[in-house]
Parts: sequence; structure tokens; C-alpha cells
Amino acid sequence: MRLILLGPPGAGKGTQSQRLVAQHGIVQLSTGDMLRAAVAAGTAIGKKAKAVMEAGDLVSDDIVIGIIADRLDEPDARKGFILDGFPRTVAQAEALDVMLKDKGLKLDAVIELVVDQSALTERIMRRAEETRARGEAVRKDDDPEVFKHRLDAYNRDTAIVAPYYKARGQLRQIDGMQPIDQVTTAIAEVLEAATA
Ligand code: AMP
Repeated sequence: MRLILLGPPGAGKGTQSQRLVAQHGIVQLSTGDMLRAAVAAGTAIGKKAKAVMEAGDLVSDDIVIGIIADRLDEPDARKGFILDGFPRTVAQAEALDVMLKDKGLKLDAVIELVVDQSALTERIMRRAEETRARGEAVRKDDDPEVFKHRLDAYNRDTAIVAPYYKARGQLRQIDGMQPIDQVTTAIAEVLEAATA
């Protein structure tokens, strides 16, 4: 199974991806996680991405497209994958189309978690508090000001990615404001219909 989860930061893509990984034995390809790992490891990509990420801006298309192209070739992605946080621009969506075509692969579904943006800042603050309570480090870009900047970047560059897939009849929208378990059920229904 191959799918894309779309939605603004804090919409629940990461949480739902983890559940899909557990249910379907596919890998979660989160460009945010990969970039954070690159920053932590101090690689050349990490050095380029660090300040951009801390400011809540988007890392360049070239970098993230390169990361995903390499990652899709790894053996564990053969069984299927969930793209979480990619594509975030139309250029990335177009590059993904080319990559998948070259590899002879097709997407089963593109799912957008539709959320009320005014509720997201509160959600992200809760995520930061819960992370702190577990004794784990809180993401620097979960600071309220930076989060607002990430939301602005989403509305400017990423909100048009869903219509890109809608125009091709591939988009399925789910109410991401429902309780987490109901969102999981709604995703399962979409996937069942898509792979039937
Ligand atoms: P995320 O964990 O998906 O919220 O991503 C955290 C940060 O990583 C974003 O705010 C961006 O700075 C960067 N990032 C992640 N994915 C992408 C992408 N597809 N394109 C550009 N920047 C990205």
C-alpha cells in the first residue's frame, strides 16, 4: 500500500501514520523526521536545513526530493509506504509523480486531514506539554511563534498540494477534528475502498 497523508502541521499525520505502520507493516516516510535526524547527525544536509527548520520555513525542494528519492529505493519501502510531510509544494508533487512513474509504482490513496486551523496552536502546545511530561526534548519549532510561521508556510506553499491531487481524482478528505480513533477508522474505510 502506498499513500500520502496531507494536512497542516499538527493535523495528526504523524499519529495516524504510526497507526498505519503498525496495522499494515509499511514504512512511514516523514521528511520532517529524516531532516531532524540529519540535523542531529550533523550531516551536510542537516547543516543546510537546521536554521531553515528552526525558523519554521520550508527546506529547499532539491534537498527533500533527493532525500525521498533515495529513501524510496531502500528495501523496506518495497512493501509500501506512507508519505508524511511530503510533498509540501507542487514542485515536490510533480517530482514524486516522475519518481513513481520511473519505478512503475502507483499511489493507492492521497488522504487529506482537514482541520480547523484556529484549534491547531492549542493542539501543538498540548503536544509540547505531553512531550515535556514524558521527559523528552520538545521540538524547537513547536514554539507558538514558530508554529504560526509553519502554518503560514503551509497556507502559502502547501495548501495547493491537495487541489493538485483533487484535480486528478485522487484526493480523499477526512475530518481531522474528530477524536483520534475515529480518524483512524475513517482512514481505514478510505483505504479499504481504494484497495478493494
Ligand atoms: P514536520 O515534522 O513534517 O512538521 O517538518 C518539520 C520541518 O521540516 C518543516 O517545518 C520544514 O522546515 C521541514 N520539512 C519537512 N518536510 C518538508 C518538505 N517536504 N519540504 C520542505 N521542508 C520540509
